[in-house]
Amino acid sequence: MRKHLAAGQTWEGKSTNHRKDGTVYNEELMASPVRNEAGRVAHHVLLIRDVTEKNELEQQLLQSQKMEALGQMAGGVAHDFNNLLTAILGYCSAAMDRVADDSSTYEDLKQVVLAGERAARMTRKLLALGRKNMAVSEPADLNGLITDMEPFLRRTLTSDVELEIDLGASDQMVLLDKSSLEQVILNLVVNARDAMTSGGHLQVKTDRIVIKEENRNGFADVTPGSYMLLSVRDDGCGMTEKIQTRIFEPFFTTKEKDKGTGLGLSTVYSIIRQGGGFVSAKSDIGVGTTFELLLPLADGEDNGLKIRESVQETRGTETILLTEDEVAVRALCARTLTSRGYHVLQASNGAEALSMYQASEGKINMVITDMTMPTMGGKDLVEQLRRIKPDLHVLFMTGFTEDVACNHATGRKYPMLLKPFTQQALVERVRGILGRDAETYEESAPARRPAE
Ligand code: ADP
Ligand code: MG
Repeated sequence: MRKHLAAGQTWEGKSTNHRKDGTVYNEELMASPVRNEAGRVAHHVLLIRDVTEKNELEQQLLQSQKMEALGQMAGGVAHDFNNLLTAILGYCSAAMDRVADDSSTYEDLKQVVLAGERAARMTRKLLALGRKNMAVSEPADLNGLITDMEPFLRRTLTSDVELEIDLGASDQMVLLDKSSLEQVILNLVVNARDAMTSGGHLQVKTDRIVIKEENRNGFADVTPGSYMLLSVRDDGCGMTEKIQTRIFEPFFTTKEKDKGTGLGLSTVYSIIRQGGGFVSAKSDIGVGTTFELLLPLADGEDNGLKIRESVQETRGTETILLTEDEVAVRALCARTLTSRGYHVLQASNGAEALSMYQASEGKINMVITDMTMPTMGGKDLVEQLRRIKPDLHVLFMTGFTEDVACNHATGRKYPMLLKPFTQQALVERVRGILGRDAETYEESAPARRPAE
């Protein structure tokens, strides 16, 4: 700076500095010479800008861009990965059906299935973090799930923590994936444990709650309606207001390097928000912390997505148009359905399926289609097909939440099968759907008639 100024030039730079109270801050500086009438440098103007907050925001933005990129990558990989897992698990159980239960081959195949299922759970975790969460395949029983988790939660806590579980009487199914919910509860309980270093009281409570327009119970951005409330309350150390504003940020942690990752609450937040729920936190230093989650209810028989048909009979003689670009998955599903008596037509994309349908002279009862395919995707295909035949039965196969979200957005609630799925799940689902009235998919948007 001195060199530049001595030469009569402007200088710009960055530095760290101390405030009067001793705290360090980041600054941007600009020093310029001011000349008098004779052209001599008489003064200098020094501009100093505190950019601490700006730097932090930049850092956060970079962080969230990183998360976004990771999520996109995970989502892309997962699509292919789920197809592979569907084929691996499917062919494996098909092979198990053909060997004796007590043979060593059967044992080996069982290990392959177990490893495959672990891989499926791993994909789900990755996706939850990357915000491309897996779709909800069936609603979860919140109270039942907490009851099942109780022994595990107790083991997670130290013996000087008293765990109180208070389950509301009116328990309703919630529209969230079971393993995501388990992860949410565990993350909150682990945080509470860490906050109660010298023991305490931890309460996990559920209840049905109605949020009204005029009383939003501390949930700022909530949509009024009925929810299941899940609250996790501890009487641990609590948090300062400043910490509270940052707890949901990815990688924000106040814990030591090997103790905290800062991913616990950001995962909770993205799972709940993605599932259509809401999160709030209240905390006071020395008093404790309460996390409250509003979980959307999976109510009513009207939701084809949520109802899981319990079907014993898995055979049928109907004609099914199966559309899937991944050959291994298509071949496997076709084989399964054919073995149960169905007549199966196969297409590798939407356009092909459409022309097959047109050539079929109305013999097709049901279409099973993948969502993401080249040429024409599953959504477009179904829209076109139902314009021709409004009561056509439909089953989507997918691995993404986005697909479920778009399903909701159109006002139609088509049944979806989450990849990777078992062949048993496929045949049960198909039988259940064929036994129902296809018009029930139309919730708020009635089927458009052709040529209108
Ligand atoms: P991690 O637990 O790895 O630090 P989280 O995202 O789970 O990351 O939590 C972020 C931060 O929020 C914690 O480091 C802690 O400061 C604060 N926090 C979370 N839950 C509680 C709680 N129950 N009581 C006090 N502080 C909490
Ligand atoms: Mg944590």
